[in-house]
Amino acid sequence: MPASIFSDNVREQKTPPRLPDATSPLSEKNLAFLDNLKSAYPNFSFKPGRKFLFRPPKSIFYLESNENFRLLLLHELAHALLGHFTFNRSLERLTIERDAWAKTRELCETHGVTFDESLAETELDTYRDWVHQKTLCKTCGATCLEISSESLFCPFCQKIIKRS
Ligand SMILES: [Zn+2]
Ligand SMILES: [Zn+2]
Repeated sequence: MPASIFSDNVREQKTPPRLPDATSPLSEKNLAFLDNLKSAYPNFSFKPGRKFLFRPPKSIFYLESNENFRLLLLHELAHALLGHFTFNRSLERLTIERDAWAKTRELCETHGVTFDESLAETELDTYRDWVHQKTLCKTCGATCLEISSESLFCPFCQKIIKRS
């Protein structure tokens, strides 16, 4: 009978979905640290995300993984506190990262977190590589000069290249 089939379907749809696991993957220590930061910096909003990220003007995203959690969270907070809203040139990006790591070191002292020099260097290296990649001439592979936020100059090809 069609009516009863229909009604069965409705009943099936009304079955509550399985509840997602309510426990956070963060350790109690990291959760407590997060709560402290939330109350110390009420102007910013801290949200779980797919990576550690500051999205201007005031959203700080964190990855729910315990590895380097406190340090990387402070690093994004550093970007937020320094007002790193825009950057146009890749070299500026590197400067911004350097500044942010210097600020992270300060924040680590304030919040009792051990600063990891080698992690900071590794992170900066990825930016150095990225900056370098961004300034290579697509024709000859030489490192170009940055002349504006939109363009590079290749000394070998002797021409101005639009940034990608
Ligand atoms: Zn950064
Ligand atoms: Zn070239």
